[in-house]
Parts: sequence; C-alpha cells; structure tokens
Amino acid sequence: MTNERRPCPAETKEARVRDTEENAKRCFCPGCPTFDECMIEGRERLYCARGSTRCRLVRLGCVCGECDVAIENGLSSNYYCDGGPAKF
Ligand code: SF4
Ligand code: SF4
Repeated sequence: MTNERRPCPAETKEARVRDTEENAKRCFCPGCPTFDECMIEGRERLYCARGSTRCRLVRLGCVCGECDVAIENGLSSNYYCDGGPAKF
C-alpha cells in the first residue's frame, strides 16, 4: 500500500482542450451546418482548442455538444469557431 495522494480530477485537468491530431480527427465541425467552403479550404477545425475561424462566419447551428471531445473535456458552450477556444 502506498501513501501517495491521488490527484483530484480538477488538479489534473488540462488548462485547455489539447490541440492534437487525435482530437482534430474526432472534431464534428466538418459535419456542422455552419462549416462552410472557406473553413474547408483553410483546413480548419478543433476551434475549441485552436481558436476562432479566419472566415466570415454565419451561424447556422453548432454540433459541439454532440462531440466526444466536448464530452470528455466537460465543455458546456458552443460556437468556438466564433467565440474562440474553450476556457476552464
Ligand atoms: S464550433 Fe460549432 S458552429 Fe463552429 S464549426 Fe464547430 S460545430 Fe460548427
Ligand atoms: S467541441 Fe466543437 S470545436 Fe471542439 S472538437 Fe468538438 S465539434 Fe470541434
């Protein structure tokens, strides 16, 4: 048996959503109604980690809430393509 204290989840949580290829592949943005040609051409996605789009944005709906990256990171907001990266 060890006396090492187990860190609580709040202490180990990343300061931001991690900008990894794995998270980028799981991002739902490319299937979202707001995701347009400009975003495709810019190879954008994972706005919750990478920040807002460089494109002119028209909000047509957001599917962030259904995404595993959002669920895993406990994200409760949406439209990260507009508002910038998720903050904890
Ligand atoms: S952040 Fe939301 S609205 Fe923006 S592209 Fe991704 S899923 Fe769509
Ligand atoms: S929460 Fe939104 S921006 Fe972040 S990975 Fe999921 S769909 Fe993409």
